Amino acid sequence: MLLREVDYAKPSSVADALSILAAHGGARALAGGQTLLNVMKARVASPDVLVDLNGIDELRGIELAPDGTLSIGAMTTCTEICESAEARARPILAEVCGQIADVQVRNRGTIGGNICSNDPTNHLPPLLTAIGARMRIQGANGEREVEAADFFLGVYVTAVGQGELLTKIVVPPGRHDGFAAVTLGVDGTCIANAAASVNGSLRVALGCVDAVPVVVSPSSGDDDAVRAAVRGVGLEPPSDVHASGEYRAHLAEVLAVRAVRRATEGS
Ligand SMILES: Cc1cc2nc3c(=O)[nH]c(=O)nc-3n(C[C@H](O)[C@H](O)[C@H](O)COP(=O)(O)OP(=O)(O)OC[C@H]3O[C@@H](n4cnc5c(N)ncnc54)[C@H](O)[C@@H]3O)c2cc1C
Repeated sequence: MLLREVDYAKPSSVADALSILAAHGGARALAGGQTLLNVMKARVASPDVLVDLNGIDELRGIELAPDGTLSIGAMTTCTEICESAEARARPILAEVCGQIADVQVRNRGTIGGNICSNDPTNHLPPLLTAIGARMRIQGANGEREVEAADFFLGVYVTAVGQGELLTKIVVPPGRHDGFAAVTLGVDGTCIANAAASVNGSLRVALGCVDAVPVVVSPSSGDDDAVRAAVRGVGLEPPSDVHASGEYRAHLAEVLAVRAVRRATEGS
């Protein structure tokens, strides 16, 4: 289906992008376009103005601070994360970005677009939740930082409000992380996934079982403790053509155990 007619702007600074977004209630940020253009073609979204972020250099790139903290620009693509020397400070980032879809999607799709779309089957929302990332959001009233656990609000809904932009993802230092997924075919969409991090305390985030990543905090990394913690949150995952809710709940336990085992290997 052809796109509905839409105005287009390509600002070169965050300030200019914010002023265009503020001036047009129906304006929408365009990152890699991998989700947005598809939903526009399906007429599920009909923005009046596309504000293309691809000309804004300050939204790109990965910085590594001396203490190991990573600041990742929202417009950094999955491929750039996979190829970045700095991102190796938190190896799970490249490991998981390299599992997303195919080369074309990874070359165009950005970390910001992945989490702003908050498709519950995406890889990065549970991962960034488990590793305690913080999202930097800029708007007319200045800048604020939101914990990943408070960032995802619902299917396709995040803490980024109308007229605001996600500018950076701040990832704290750490190495003991794990990720496990069951997908539709090799590198396909996740049926269920789990991310775990044992830097300090143990934290697990489950994907595909609710509108937002579900956080569980097992009392230990022992398999039985992890299974008990997942059972304890009373998951009621959706059923669809790919899997029943019951099967997804089962996978959540299995994948949480796998993710924790990977996170604890060598820790
Ligand atoms: C065939 C296919 C298979 C895929 N499979 C997977 C998969 O298995 N796992 C997975 O994790 N992902 C998958 N994806 C999603 C993909 O990885 C991208 O993350 C996703 O499509 C959005 O990224 P984008 O940069 O293209 O964002 P866009 O499509 O341009 O934008 C998505 C949304 O985010 C908003 N947005 C983008 N950037 C910002 C910003 N900085 N501030 C505020 N709002 C912003 C846009 O306004 C829009 O609402 C798949 C995509 C395709 C097309």
